[in-house]
Amino acid sequence: MGANLLAPLLAVVLLFQGQGWWGLSIIMTAHALWLVPTLWPQCDWCGKVLSRLPDDRKEVWLTIDDGPDVEDTPQLLNLLDQYQAKATFFFIGAKAQQHPELVTEALKRGHGVGNHTMTHPQYWFWSYGPRAAKSEITTCQQVLTDASGGISPRWFRAPAGFKNPFVQATVEKLGLRLACWSARGRDGVDSDCQRVLERLKRGINPGAIILMHEGRYDSDGERLAPKVLGELLTWLQENDYRCILPT
Ligand SMILES: [Zn+2]
Repeated sequence: MGANLLAPLLAVVLLFQGQGWWGLSIIMTAHALWLVPTLWPQCDWCGKVLSRLPDDRKEVWLTIDDGPDVEDTPQLLNLLDQYQAKATFFFIGAKAQQHPELVTEALKRGHGVGNHTMTHPQYWFWSYGPRAAKSEITTCQQVLTDASGGISPRWFRAPAGFKNPFVQATVEKLGLRLACWSARGRDGVDSDCQRVLERLKRGINPGAIILMHEGRYDSDGERLAPKVLGELLTWLQENDYRCILPT
């Protein structure tokens, strides 16, 4: 942030010295230092981000965002039981407030529950200042902790993966860790089960972090996430992958 404030001053000085191009370069570099880690989910310039599991064993971390969803979450939990797979649900606080029983159920079955902000402001979260970022994260943390009988989430995922230094500061202050992903099917924008699956499979290798979403419909008007998860778990099993939670 300091670089963003100092850069224009330095640029003006250079302009008066007849070195305008150098000034412009300094401004552009300062903005890149701010924008790149904000808009590139895997970038860790502002602090730690987990984008892959540290080991090269045939293990993956399955993460499911945007729930709880009264139709999808129970089906996903049953599928995970069926395949003895574990996942982390990155829940939205406002939805968890309406269905705290689904938060409890996910934990009871041995899954993880992560913080995915209170209201999921996916278009503007990248631009949030310290107060707004803190409010989104701490309110969700409180809702999930209450629904979990006092167990606080350990992981945070930013909506659409966009985080800025203010988000990172709050995350670290609360003792949370930022979770990103390495394999995604773009199920937030593509409703075709097979295309989503193919993208996911292409991104999966030992240590991959898989990103899925719940609460979406496919092109036939059926629930997308249970379809994708059923086929994905079969494929993972056939290929000797285990779905585990990070330590
Ligand atoms: Zn999300």
